[in-house]
Amino acid sequence: MKLSRPQEECGVFGIYNHSEASNLTYLGLYALQHRGQESCGIVSSDGNSLHAHKRMGLVADVFSNPDVFKKLPGKSAIGHVRYSTAGASVEKNVQPIMVDYSRGSIAVAHNGNLVNAQLLKAELEAYGSIFQTTMDTEIIIHLIATYKTNSLVDRIVEALKRVQGAYCLLFLTETRMIAVRDPNGFRPLCLGKLGDAWVVASESCALDLIEADFIREIEPGEMIVCTKDGGIKSLFPFKKIDPTPCIFEFVYFARPDSTIFGRNVYLARKELGRQLAREYPVDADVVIAVPDSGVPAAMGYAEESGIPFELGLIRNHYVGRTFIEPAQSIRHFGVKIKLNPVRELLKGKRVVVIDDSIVRGTTSRKIVKMVRNAGAKEVHLRISSPPTSYPCYYGIDTPNRKELISSSHTIDEICRYVTADTLGYLSEEGLISSIGHGNTHYCKACFAGTYPVAFPKPADTLQKGLFEEEMNGHE
Ligand code: AMP
Repeated sequence: MKLSRPQEECGVFGIYNHSEASNLTYLGLYALQHRGQESCGIVSSDGNSLHAHKRMGLVADVFSNPDVFKKLPGKSAIGHVRYSTAGASVEKNVQPIMVDYSRGSIAVAHNGNLVNAQLLKAELEAYGSIFQTTMDTEIIIHLIATYKTNSLVDRIVEALKRVQGAYCLLFLTETRMIAVRDPNGFRPLCLGKLGDAWVVASESCALDLIEADFIREIEPGEMIVCTKDGGIKSLFPFKKIDPTPCIFEFVYFARPDSTIFGRNVYLARKELGRQLAREYPVDADVVIAVPDSGVPAAMGYAEESGIPFELGLIRNHYVGRTFIEPAQSIRHFGVKIKLNPVRELLKGKRVVVIDDSIVRGTTSRKIVKMVRNAGAKEVHLRISSPPTSYPCYYGIDTPNRKELISSSHTIDEICRYVTADTLGYLSEEGLISSIGHGNTHYCKACFAGTYPVAFPKPADTLQKGLFEEEMNGHE
């Protein structure tokens, strides 16, 4: 049986008991746009029924017509932004999913990726379930509908006891909003308060935008039920395990102004840069970042090394992340659309370029060439995380193992491929010590290949040849 590939990079937002619920959800999704740019949607509840608006596209486009909000009445709403791999990017997969079942209506928004989705799906289909989407999330809905108990909370708990993997979930019914974070706590999820309203968001930056108070993070394995009396109930219905939050959220994915897993992302990234400077110093004239995600680490590197930080690459902010372009040919072009060097600054200089990660290597190669073409005398590439050698099965969209350049190439080979003078990656120990936080056992599967929730690894053959052609000068 073909096992599921990671499909979900997402953000979720929900608000309960506010007269402008759908408007505020729209703003919350705006703040979470970096977590998914392919599609988005909002489902609201007016107390009697649910209302939805969801489409492919960015938040600003999908909700560009203010009349849309008239069709999203009520005092509670949940929303979702999504990025998925090309194969699954179809209209029917846009979240939140909304269904009618024997007890009423329910909508769900999901950030994460289940590892036993295909097995559960096959089992449910054998019992007659008919699936309308290709998303893991629909499996949860079917499981909820399957259980016979009256209580929705019990149904959700029973359903989630069957699923394995990463999930931050927001459920909305006519009268309730329920948030759940998986026992490993892979993805971030926080709780806020805006007047009498409760707010739940993937990242705290969404609370800031709507001026909600950050109350706390939702704990791994915790379920928060917003109740009609204006309170919340906190439940821990799952077997307690050692949480493994995703360290890549700190490296790349989360917004620097967010606080996740108890730590501000900007400060964590700056510390990664400082540690990188200690591990891989170099004589150079200027430190520049690959914007935006490399900026805090570059500032840390500059501070620690004493080499001045400059904005040597200027980003066009009206272009999406190059990584989301589906075809290699477009991605090559995309780097130029997105970034342009400041020639006068780089000419004749020994330049340190900082980026947060190398995935396929295509971006780094283009950037190193771009900096050299701008007149740099030397280009030293420094990466503020260890080599990304293994795919993520818990909700970060990384390609197959064979497409990850570091899974089949040494650091020297990668250095040659990206055409840098030197290349240094932050060590795993350096990453962990910089992020810190006592006894937290982060998930670092993408670097170490050890998966905290078991997943049968697909038998990818590593393909050196994939990169060799380009190394030999063909493009
Ligand atoms: P690549 O050309 O595949 O090596 O892309 C590397 C760039 O992609 C780096 O600048 C990272 O900031 C960025 N990146 C790393 N991981 C991801 C991800 N999961 N989604 C989108 N972009 C990413």
